[in-house]
Amino acid sequence: LVAWDHAHLWHPFTQMQGFRQEELLIIRSGQGVYLYDIHGNRYLDGVSSLWTNVHGHRHPELDTAIKEQLGRIAHTTMLGLANVPAIQVARRLVEITPPGLDKVFFSDNGSTAVEAALKIAYQYWQLRGERQRRLFIRLKEAYHGDTLGAVSVGGIRLFHWIFKDLLLLPTAEAPNPYCYRCPEQQNCQGQCLQALEALVDARRHETVAIILEPVMQGAGGMIPQPPGYLKKVRQIADHYKVLLIADEVATGFGRTGKMFACEHEGVSPDLLCLAKGLTGGYLPLAATLATEDIYQAFLGEFADFKAFFHGHTYTGNPLAAAAALASLRLFEEQRVIDHLQDKIAYLTTRLAEWSQHPHIGDIRQRGFMVGIELVLDKNTKEPYPAKERRGHQVTLAARKLGAILRPLADVVVLMPPLSISLDELKSLLDITIQAIDQACQ
Ligand code: PMP
Repeated sequence: LVAWDHAHLWHPFTQMQGFRQEELLIIRSGQGVYLYDIHGNRYLDGVSSLWTNVHGHRHPELDTAIKEQLGRIAHTTMLGLANVPAIQVARRLVEITPPGLDKVFFSDNGSTAVEAALKIAYQYWQLRGERQRRLFIRLKEAYHGDTLGAVSVGGIRLFHWIFKDLLLLPTAEAPNPYCYRCPEQQNCQGQCLQALEALVDARRHETVAIILEPVMQGAGGMIPQPPGYLKKVRQIADHYKVLLIADEVATGFGRTGKMFACEHEGVSPDLLCLAKGLTGGYLPLAATLATEDIYQAFLGEFADFKAFFHGHTYTGNPLAAAAALASLRLFEEQRVIDHLQDKIAYLTTRLAEWSQHPHIGDIRQRGFMVGIELVLDKNTKEPYPAKERRGHQVTLAARKLGAILRPLADVVVLMPPLSISLDELKSLLDITIQAIDQACQ
């Protein structure tokens, strides 16, 4: 398998990480918060697969729901038809997402949820006769997916720069609130928000939307926003009459300690992108939720084409929708968010103990979403030389100790399944700090 993998598989992102054949870990099965490789070794899954498996692996209720749906039908198109679980999931999503989001557009993954949101937002203004609106405002270091539209609103130099001449959408970048490395740190008066507001003000007539991950930027470096930030962004969007797109692909479904990160600030976006945890990580499914006002523009008097011309083959896939329905039922019946709070408190306490570690520069946490930024020198905040790949070394050390972590350069990410027990969480944290000690001597 190792040889065949090496010969034939093109792994995402891994050339970049200098992936070596002997580092290949082949997973055969999973159970709860554990993964098992082909040799029978067991690993704590510290990143919920890829931030997806909120209830862990092989949850009996999810397994059963998928098998039962398989007994009915695996796939049927949403183009002109509908299916039972997709309708039920749409209704449930409208019930549990922030108020005002009434329409659900299904797609296949986080990138397509973002693509749909960008296209809906653009077409919305076209239909309203504001044809000059073409600009999207994004944050520095933003990550919203890998398809070309999603890359257009991305701001990570390493991932996005090479494609810059191909990018489709005009965008403007606002600073993100990366407080740890902010030059204004000692003199913070919300300059990042002021810059965002100035940008929107200057370009209000051409702006389609502001897009951001609410409360915490994930793949763009695990960067949390200070309290009040998101609310202020909503106010800016309202004041200058531009749309707000919240990408909750990573933050949604309990990850930040509430069902949706927008809830921390009582904010309703105009468009909301969901994927990852939607099916409990079992099958690909994504959703873009929109307000009634946006939807109505596609039907109303301005519409030349009364349709949104977008739809994927597996849009609203019944098997995935059945998994989503079961996952959402688990959230409700097992009061997952309530039970999470003690675990978040424990996590916060343990992380605080690491604050004096000589090679941990910054620990950033929102609920069960954690980034630990490693540095060579704690006092000067000097990073490790990139070629040393410290974050990657930490994850290799963790693997030997029995846990899977994921590095974002030198930020070690912890995003365990929400279903993890306190004992398992303790083991995961013990392994994490041991791995950091070993790799950062
Ligand atoms: N948006 C965010 C915030 C993400 O974290 C991701 C994936 N990590 C995406 C979009 C893209 O999702 P997908 O990989 O399912 O296309």
